[in-house]
Amino acid sequence: MNPDIEEENRKEGYDDWLLPEETREMLVEMFQELKDDVNLEVFLNDDNEDPFNQLTYQFTRDLARISEKIKVNVNDLKGGSAEKFHVERGPSVLISPEKYSIRFTGAPAGEEGKSFLKGLILASTGDSELEVAQRKLLAELNEKRQAMIFVTPGCPYCPGQVVNAFRAAVERPDLVKAECIEASGNIDLARKYNVGAVPHTVINGITTSRGLEPEDRFIEELITLELEEDMKKAKAKPSLKVPESGTEDVELVIIGAGPAGITAGIYAVRSGMKAVIIEKDNVGGQVALTPVVENYPGFKNIPGKNLMDILKAQALDYVPILENEGIEEIKVGKRIEVISSKRRFLCDSVIVATGAEHRKLGVKGEERLSGRGVSYCATCDGYLYRGKKVLVVGGGDSALTDSLYLNSLGAKVRIVHRRDELRGQSYLRESIERENIPVIWNSVVKRIGGKDKVKGIELEDTSSGAIKKMSVDAVFISVGYNPNSQLLQDIGVKVNEYGFVQVGRRCRTNIPRIYAAGDITGGVRQIVTAVSEGATAALSAYENLHNPYWKSR
Ligand code: NAP
Repeated sequence: MNPDIEEENRKEGYDDWLLPEETREMLVEMFQELKDDVNLEVFLNDDNEDPFNQLTYQFTRDLARISEKIKVNVNDLKGGSAEKFHVERGPSVLISPEKYSIRFTGAPAGEEGKSFLKGLILASTGDSELEVAQRKLLAELNEKRQAMIFVTPGCPYCPGQVVNAFRAAVERPDLVKAECIEASGNIDLARKYNVGAVPHTVINGITTSRGLEPEDRFIEELITLELEEDMKKAKAKPSLKVPESGTEDVELVIIGAGPAGITAGIYAVRSGMKAVIIEKDNVGGQVALTPVVENYPGFKNIPGKNLMDILKAQALDYVPILENEGIEEIKVGKRIEVISSKRRFLCDSVIVATGAEHRKLGVKGEERLSGRGVSYCATCDGYLYRGKKVLVVGGGDSALTDSLYLNSLGAKVRIVHRRDELRGQSYLRESIERENIPVIWNSVVKRIGGKDKVKGIELEDTSSGAIKKMSVDAVFISVGYNPNSQLLQDIGVKVNEYGFVQVGRRCRTNIPRIYAAGDITGGVRQIVTAVSEGATAALSAYENLHNPYWKSR
């Protein structure tokens, strides 16, 4: 505990902190970055029992106690301030409204605590921290933009998209407004914009994207108001992409920041190698989307995102992690070239730990209604379906974990499975029974229906062929994963019939100096096996750098 705060506590006799001591200590460190004072205008509704009201009040009050640069002003929705800042909903928080248009509508709860803190720092330093190319693009903006990002507290991808919007608002305070809207607490707004999955981005009233985007794509959309799907299609269009920012020389490039890549980074640097981890999205991989992990030794029960945050914090003591940077190509020569969306790396070895991505059902309606009730992420979108009828497709560990999570949120869950027996672990199967979650056996989804959002499904009985219609509000698809091995296949790395990379015990592929670890190699695909392979791959890479086994063959 910071001695000043301890002193302050004694003086004021605080014993009603919302934030635990460990978090407060972390915030004391973080707030060293604050430069100018930050004014938080907090607006509460008049329901004293509303837990989100209380959370917003206590959270912002704690922040002001931790740093004297944070000033909190609490308002109701009827006073002059609400009128002045056009605030109609509580809780809401405005960050430095005298300078910026950065607003939280709903409590900054769960994952969104992170984007809130980032918003504070951006507003205090006045530095958007955008890349030079994005700053240049935004400098040319000459019309107003209002970005609304719909989020839920459990969505690990949402803070990234919210911060994209905050950065733009800090870079162009004259033209850009950014608002983070907690969807489950503002369900009328979520309905108005047909939010079926989060993060959901609306710019100037138009839904531009569903999902987290890299910073450069978000800024491009903000400026052009083009829809993400159109931008993806218009390949011929001149790119507004960040130009190459040079060549980095390292010994090892690790691609992917899930458990395998993160562990490889720790082991590589501890062995003595200069390494870097590159991740196309954010740290965490599939684990970050797993509601609860109960079989990673050392943690009896931990949300997947929290586990990955702990692993990330540990890794950052050793190795840089470059997020939102996709790898476009690997070229194997005397040295290996790894070309990302932002730069080129020259290195001696590469560990590929790009994991696997969710498998699709491939049925009618699935793609069209994706983000409109069809979801592959219960942790992200579950909140939107509390009290609603949801169907979970699949019978493995993921489907069962997701079903239990959705059930705990208060959704009316049913599972549909193509066989008469669940594949998942007995511990999970027993929980499904105990919670009385019904399973529709021997059935497959044939069609997902609905115009703008999911309304129902057609199920086929695999024994009789009979078709049954069922009305549902959402379909959570959890039918396994396909490996992300295309990059490796492109350079001739051997994969099996399902695309999983073939490696030996030392995680070597058939191409010297190229290693693979984690779910991309198939097998039992557990977090413990991913971290184990990450460590093995890093130690092999280190050993082979000094003793190239391919030269002694
Ligand atoms: P999985 O074990 O491969 O299970 C996929 C499920 O989807 C199976 O039940 C499969 O049916 C069904 N399925 C596949 N294709 C289908 C289709 N086209 N239509 C309908 N159903 C289909 O995948 P997972 O559950 O995502 O798990 C992946 C790995 O991660 C596993 O190794 C798992 O143990 C691990 N994991 C562990 C935990 C945990 O320990 N808590 C949590 C999540 C995941 P069949 O049964 O008929 O094949």
